Amino acid sequence: MDVFGLIGNPVGHSLSPPMHEAAYEALDLDARYVTFEPQPDDLEHALAGAAALGISGLNVTIPFKQDVLEYVEADALASRIGAVNTIDFSGDVPTGHNTDAIGAVRSLREHDVPLEGADAVVVGAGGAGRAIAFGLADEGASVTICNRTASKALALSEDVPDASGGGLEDLEGAIADADLLVNATSVGMEADETPVPAGALHEDLAVMDAVYRPLETRLLREARAAGATTVDGAWMLLYQGVDALERWTGETAPVDSMNDALRSRL
Ligand code: NAP
Repeated sequence: MDVFGLIGNPVGHSLSPPMHEAAYEALDLDARYVTFEPQPDDLEHALAGAAALGISGLNVTIPFKQDVLEYVEADALASRIGAVNTIDFSGDVPTGHNTDAIGAVRSLREHDVPLEGADAVVVGAGGAGRAIAFGLADEGASVTICNRTASKALALSEDVPDASGGGLEDLEGAIADADLLVNATSVGMEADETPVPAGALHEDLAVMDAVYRPLETRLLREARAAGATTVDGAWMLLYQGVDALERWTGETAPVDSMNDALRSRL
């Protein structure tokens, strides 16, 4: 039996176990997906233990996504983003990958949102914002990053090709001519709030929210009312899992089974 899992703290409400186990069932794989919650200062021992026990792959979540870089051989994209969300233990040394970036890109592609040459605005410069900004830029989009703490957006824009950065006061101006807007802040999760003024939204825009609880955030509701194309955050969650599963197993992921398992719990 292959054992995969998620390492983070906390991991209690994760949707990854049912999503991955639905895939194992559909593919008839003898595998399990388990959550692990080590104390933050036990990360090194936890990863050495996982390797020694023959665990095949781990997803990584808060607070370990950055710290894991110290203990794995990160690929080029994960190194540029500065975060790992997927570890593959199949080689001589564990390798680290970032499937959040491809998850965001694939969500947009599956909704026929063109990225090459697009003007994209990313709100937020935390972990999700970093991954999404690199993902979009690598697909040929020009990215404007706006963040509450403007200095973080400016610093990120120096790392991302063809990007610029600013504060939330720059958001309306940036959105006016944009093709794509992505919310990568946590605003919309705790309360029915949005980081984007409704008046800035327009029908030539595709709007993706990284927030997936609730599925229909205020931003997506207002974007739909403005005539924009909308993509909810469960798509990004789905496709980061799809990419991890395909990397670990070499199988083509049963996307519909994984999507059903995810959405039935949201
Ligand atoms: P993070 O690293 O903690 O970053 C949080 C971001 O939100 C920062 O840019 C922060 O701005 C901004 N922010 C927080 N409160 C704000 C407020 N009141 N007004 C304006 N901006 C605010 O978190 P993260 O890991 O990037 O996650 C961000 C969101 O993405 C979460 O909701 C998470 O669940 C979601 N996410 C979804 C997926 C998916 O697969 N769908 C994957 C990863 C994350 P400052 O820098 O100014 O603090």
